Amino acid sequence: MADGWILGIESTAHTLSFGLVDATGSPRPSCTDTLRPTEGGIHPREAADHHVEVSSHLLKKLLADNNLKPSEIGAVSYSQGPGMGACLRTGAAAARSISTYLGVPLVGVNHCVAHIEIGREQCGCKDPILLYVSGGNTQVIARLDGRYRVLGETLDIGIGNMLDKFARNHGIPFPGGPVIEKHALEWLENNPNSSLQGLELPYAVHGMDLAFSGLMSAANKLVSEGKPFAAVCWSLQEHAFAACVEVAERALAHTGKAEILLGGGVACNQRLRDMSALMCEERMAESFCPPRMYCIDNGTMIARLGWLEIGYGRTTTLASSGIDQEMRTDQTPVVWP
Ligand code: AMP
Ligand code: MG
Repeated sequence: MADGWILGIESTAHTLSFGLVDATGSPRPSCTDTLRPTEGGIHPREAADHHVEVSSHLLKKLLADNNLKPSEIGAVSYSQGPGMGACLRTGAAAARSISTYLGVPLVGVNHCVAHIEIGREQCGCKDPILLYVSGGNTQVIARLDGRYRVLGETLDIGIGNMLDKFARNHGIPFPGGPVIEKHALEWLENNPNSSLQGLELPYAVHGMDLAFSGLMSAANKLVSEGKPFAAVCWSLQEHAFAACVEVAERALAHTGKAEILLGGGVACNQRLRDMSALMCEERMAESFCPPRMYCIDNGTMIARLGWLEIGYGRTTTLASSGIDQEMRTDQTPVVWP
């Protein structure tokens, strides 16, 4: 078991977040700040500058909120990958500095695996298929033979990225996903007997993989042809989420597992949660979703995975603490139960 609290630092993309677990691995809410560009997408260097700017304020706030002195931190965990290089480097640099200053162990962890482990901790599920739907990532993951294996993933852009880009094309700033959800809901409220006829979009499932850029182009085309924007938002959600849930369902069938766990920022979406629950009900499986603060990128999940890694004897030396932008989900040995 770790000696003291574990500090977790998340900095894979637009979000910088510090979080904590106590010595028993029990999580505390993170202190988080997200760069929201007023126009365009996320520029890695601008995001990294943002992280440097807000880091000391966030860390101080986290310690104050939890009534902790720096000396009570027993280890520092950080996202080693995958993500944007410039952003990852700021988190890794902060982690190295804090661990060296306090003289406590450092552990670099896999961001995607952290989403799974916080979800398992929060929801109490044992051996789920993770449907990981975030800005940059879309993967269907299962634990097999001591690794989390990617059974299917996006072949082009992440689903969140697709929603954000579609929104941006229509003047909605980042993050577009929640605004699309709002428009879709309003469309349904005002048109309870809606049909998808005339709002069809391409099929996003490719074997066990997914692809979203064609969906986005087709949705843009529908708007330019005069279809109501809210109706297209609704159709886009229906098509994109159905594709994800279909691949997740196949993963259940292939592996014989009986639990789905949602994770990533897009898992905040109620329609996706409902679709997954419905699919599971029909298969006598169960769908789990952590609280929204643990779906989005957060430092607490990094602390939780750091706690597991340290508990099972792994730490990271300074010499091997470099970031890995392309770190794969199945690169990390999973040695804990
Ligand atoms: P992450 O990359 O995990 O930090 O999540 C950020 C992504 O989640 C962005 O692409 C957001 O647009 C998306 N997102 C957040 N909330 C929602 C929502 N309610 N519906 C759809 N997408 C969402
Ligand atoms: Mg993420």
